[in-house]
Amino acid sequence: MKLPAEKSWHNLYIHIPFCVSKCGYCAFYSETQCGSAIRKNYLAAVKDFLLQQEFSSPVKTVYIGGGTPNFLTASEMAELFEFVYKIVPLAKECEVSSELNPELLTAGKMSVLNEYATRLSLGVQSFDESVRNLLMRKCSSEHLQKALKLLEKRRARHFNIDLIYGVAGVPEKVLAEDLRVAVEHGADHLSCYSLTAEENSRLGLNSPVADNSEAADLWLFIGEKLSEYGINRYEISNYAKSDAHCRHNVNVWRGDTLLGAGAAAAGFDGIDRYNFTESIDDFITGRTPEFDRITPEERLLEIFAVNLRTVEGWQKAVWEKLYPATWDKMYKKCVNCAAEDPEWWCLENDHIALTQAGLLFWDDAAMDVLSWDEELL
Ligand code: SF4
Repeated sequence: MKLPAEKSWHNLYIHIPFCVSKCGYCAFYSETQCGSAIRKNYLAAVKDFLLQQEFSSPVKTVYIGGGTPNFLTASEMAELFEFVYKIVPLAKECEVSSELNPELLTAGKMSVLNEYATRLSLGVQSFDESVRNLLMRKCSSEHLQKALKLLEKRRARHFNIDLIYGVAGVPEKVLAEDLRVAVEHGADHLSCYSLTAEENSRLGLNSPVADNSEAADLWLFIGEKLSEYGINRYEISNYAKSDAHCRHNVNVWRGDTLLGAGAAAAGFDGIDRYNFTESIDDFITGRTPEFDRITPEERLLEIFAVNLRTVEGWQKAVWEKLYPATWDKMYKKCVNCAAEDPEWWCLENDHIALTQAGLLFWDDAAMDVLSWDEELL
């Protein structure tokens, strides 16, 4: 199916919804029983979907996520990258990211990644096996070490490691060690997510979640510790060296267009967001995604709130590329919010951002923004 391209597609996300087993905390859509016939049909459907889209300018970033992209065999991974490179017009400096699961990394898959990916993202969650067990994350220390050894040969310029913190009963020193080991292995980007209890996960509401104040202390600790390594927070859960921000995510947070492909993939055509259903069969049979149609004013507020998750927040020039001549009204609204919660807001004439305290309470700040009902457009 061809999606209405209101503006040109600048970013591409491909969801690979296969996993070996479900981790205890995970509520993302993926299936665990996927043989070669399903994978073959799924890749054919992704290829067909891309062939039907119109690309009126080069795509700046590609992100292969999951699920587990390296659940695919090395030759399936090569096939995927090959058709993406062939069908999609990629910008010269296009960032091409792939998520990876340590358990399934092989030398053959590394060769494919070395040929095509510019950024790799390894889901570790913790280097401490007992923490991984608590999280029902199936990956032995032996597999993890093997994957890290293979990754020493990576050609990709950037390397992210995903960690989870805020697991009840796990002391701060375990987290400190996780951060140290991640940096030691050459990560120039870390995504550190606080454990949450997801109803649709295997652990469900029994997830061992630390209490809010403990999680907030750990969040502050991560910021301090990583800055000692020259890796700074640039979004609530993301930290990077100065040249290693994930451009795909930065673009998406700033309201850029996103072509999402695959089961459960989300996209944004510049006006409406859409979601494919959580079904491999639906995607293979070409079921159209569901569009989330809201008013232009609601969309403006949503985009404004999302990018307040970043440390940089909004620069006037960036915002006015999306919504010309609206800066002054947005600024005035933020001044009113800052009168209520001065410790959350950092306002300069051409710059609006949340402070560190504001980032900790982003949910509340975002709720305030979404409730603005004045005419802004
Ligand atoms: S956390 Fe990643 S590997 Fe684990 S079940 Fe979820 S998508 Fe699969």
